[in-house]
Amino acid sequence: MTGRLEGKVAIVTGAGSGMGAAMVRRFCAEGARTIAVDVSGAQDDTARDAGANCVPVHADVSVAVEVESFVRLAVDRFGKLDIICNNAGIQGPLGLTADYAEEDWDRVIAVNLKGVFLGMKYAIPEMLKIGGGSIVNTSSMAALVAFPTLPAYSASKGGVSCLTRLTAAEYASQNVRVNAILPGAIDTGMTRGMPKEYLQGAIDATLMGRIGRPEEIANLALFLASDEASFITGTETQVDGGYTLV
Ligand code: NAP
Repeated sequence: MTGRLEGKVAIVTGAGSGMGAAMVRRFCAEGARTIAVDVSGAQDDTARDAGANCVPVHADVSVAVEVESFVRLAVDRFGKLDIICNNAGIQGPLGLTADYAEEDWDRVIAVNLKGVFLGMKYAIPEMLKIGGGSIVNTSSMAALVAFPTLPAYSASKGGVSCLTRLTAAEYASQNVRVNAILPGAIDTGMTRGMPKEYLQGAIDATLMGRIGRPEEIANLALFLASDEASFITGTETQVDGGYTLV
């Protein structure tokens, strides 16, 4: 099937790499006009690959004026906003809670949690103007199970899951759907930067016995973003090869 997002306007954050880049490629292939947001600079490569319907934007999701500005750009450029995937995230350094540096905590929470809040804060009013929309937040299996030495990351993802449910409840009657994806270990820049034994431990605990592909996350993001998911809101779906099953 193609054209599953025909006529839709989408924003994807963290679009320079990994899951965000896969979402942009998939969304554009399915007909969406897409704003690809990242701080890394790699959003330009993603947009080049995705074709004429993609506009790259350099922005930091933790900075309110930058988020407000890329939401405005979507509306100015394409006339409306139907979809936002709040996907940008950082892992932060590994460290036990008592040893964790306050500035590392603040940065991880700012990008992973405040960034999702800001994305929703500025996108929702635009969605309400057109009678609804779809928000897809990237949480993590770290919202469900303990990953020692990742205190800020885990707290941020627990927060994303909680905020997803809360916002879904607030706007359900106005047809703004809000759902979260909980990836397991996926082969991206983030996991490639992890200590080898840490990543191997996660793969060993994955019942399907392998690391996931960014496209396997983009497939669910596409479904949740599209009208095929028109009666689905407030959900959290693990895409983790069975990691959290036992
Ligand atoms: P990735 O390949 O590192 O992609 C994340 C992208 O977000 C990078 O291009 C990064 O740029 C960008 N970014 C970081 N901070 C940003 C900011 N403040 N504003 C805008 N963009 C920013 O990692 P990924 O695995 O695809 O991560 C996507 C999401 O999945 C994240 O929310 C992550 O927490 C979540 N997740 C990942 C896994 C996994 O196994 N990979 C598992 C569960 C959840 P820089 O490279 O410059 O930092």
